Amino acid sequence: MSTDIAIVGAGLTGLVAAYRLASAGRKVTVFERYPEAGGLVACFDAGGERLECFYHHIFTTDTDYVALAEELELGHTVDWLPSRMGIYSRNRLWDFGTPVSLLRFKPLPWVDKIRFGWSTLFLNRTADYHEFETVTARDWILTHAGHKVYDTVWGPLLHQKFAEKADDVAMVWLWGKVYLRGRSRSTTGMGERLGYMRGSFGRLVEVLVARLRDAGVQLEFANPVKRITRTGDGLEVQSRTGAERFARVLFTAAPQELSRVAGEQFPGEYQANLTALPATAALCVVLELSRSLTPYYWLNIADPEFPFGGLIEHTNYIPRERYGGRFVLYISKYMFPDNPLWSARDNEVWSVYRPFLQRVNPKFDDSWVLARHHFKAAYAQPVIPRNYPSVMPRFETPVPGLYHACMAQIYPEDRGQNYAVRSGNRAAQALLDGGA
Ligand SMILES: Cc1cc2nc3c(=O)[nH]c(=O)nc-3n(C[C@H](O)[C@H](O)[C@H](O)COP(=O)(O)OP(=O)(O)OC[C@H]3O[C@@H](n4cnc5c(N)ncnc54)[C@H](O)[C@@H]3O)c2cc1C
Repeated sequence: MSTDIAIVGAGLTGLVAAYRLASAGRKVTVFERYPEAGGLVACFDAGGERLECFYHHIFTTDTDYVALAEELELGHTVDWLPSRMGIYSRNRLWDFGTPVSLLRFKPLPWVDKIRFGWSTLFLNRTADYHEFETVTARDWILTHAGHKVYDTVWGPLLHQKFAEKADDVAMVWLWGKVYLRGRSRSTTGMGERLGYMRGSFGRLVEVLVARLRDAGVQLEFANPVKRITRTGDGLEVQSRTGAERFARVLFTAAPQELSRVAGEQFPGEYQANLTALPATAALCVVLELSRSLTPYYWLNIADPEFPFGGLIEHTNYIPRERYGGRFVLYISKYMFPDNPLWSARDNEVWSVYRPFLQRVNPKFDDSWVLARHHFKAAYAQPVIPRNYPSVMPRFETPVPGLYHACMAQIYPEDRGQNYAVRSGNRAAQALLDGGA
């Protein structure tokens, strides 16, 4: 029998697992459908510098990521920088995210400011999340903070991330955001500092790929896996280029993708569960601009008329000199693929977005746009419903030797690079412990 291990997916989870297994002397092959590694942390060139297709930063609580960066001798490249957060509400920009900004935030009347402040503080101080697993975020906020707080702050945020499924999201997801952000803020003692890797997070991906090559890992880029079948005492992986046998396979892509390539061997209930787990897709339009649109790094759009949910002006956080002096703005939108914007052509998306940028900054005009890039990810943000552990996909699948480690298993935290690293570490350890 072959003792080789196949890993499907060269996102961070797959790369980290491959690195650990190869470091432990195992023979590993990585299959990736795209020509390059990185998955959701893929990068492109903006103003002569590498930049993530989807905006990225890390928190001080992202200790697994930082530990890996240090191990790969990249620790010194992570800068912890202040960032400014805002919210667009009632046709104007407001500072947001600090006690002083809350006091000045007019869309919330005083009584609601107190309810917002109190409920946020409560979440911040509550380490045990179990009580938040059985209630939706919407119901919890309506009960503990009221309609006004929901409609003005949290509701728009939930809709921006989860679209039509916003009302289904469990409170534990929001708890994770508030609680971990609170821990991240308090660790620096200097207010909020967010981490960014000089030269982009793609650097860590590049170093991992180089280490894998050095360790003799077979990297099969641009080689999507089409089918995984149990045969005898091993698994056959059919990819674009042919079929190969492995002792074990670690699958790191979406549950729906696992169901597509191996589903016919799964019991009906398991298969139905995999396909029923919803996730939003992400559409990011990245603008390279000659001028700055807003003074904020992170701007939540709390206006249901807007066709996008967030504006992330990267160069209000990272110096624009790195991008040839250009201002870099991400326009963020999460949605389900039945949204017409998902299948719209780039120019159509742009013609929908442009007038709304003018609402945020009336001076904005087309002459500011030096370059425009459109990026899409079909599997971007798992929806976490109530009682999620009962449906969360397990590491072991019903097919012996086939394992699954993906974003849908990040719980109770929200998905992120840190948890992809943790997941890759754990998956490799479990395979080694199981005799791989
Ligand atoms: C808009 C957006 C913003 C984000 N912001 C942040 C942030 O600020 N900070 C942060 O830490 N994280 C952020 N994240 C999350 C972070 O990028 C992810 O959590 C992490 O990269 C997930 O890694 P992964 O390996 O688990 O999954 P993925 O990156 O999705 O990797 C899965 C890989 O599997 C491949 N694949 C799929 N099917 C097949 C197949 N059949 N055959 C072969 N290969 C296949 C895919 O091409 C992909 O490369 C953001 C994500 C998005 C979408």
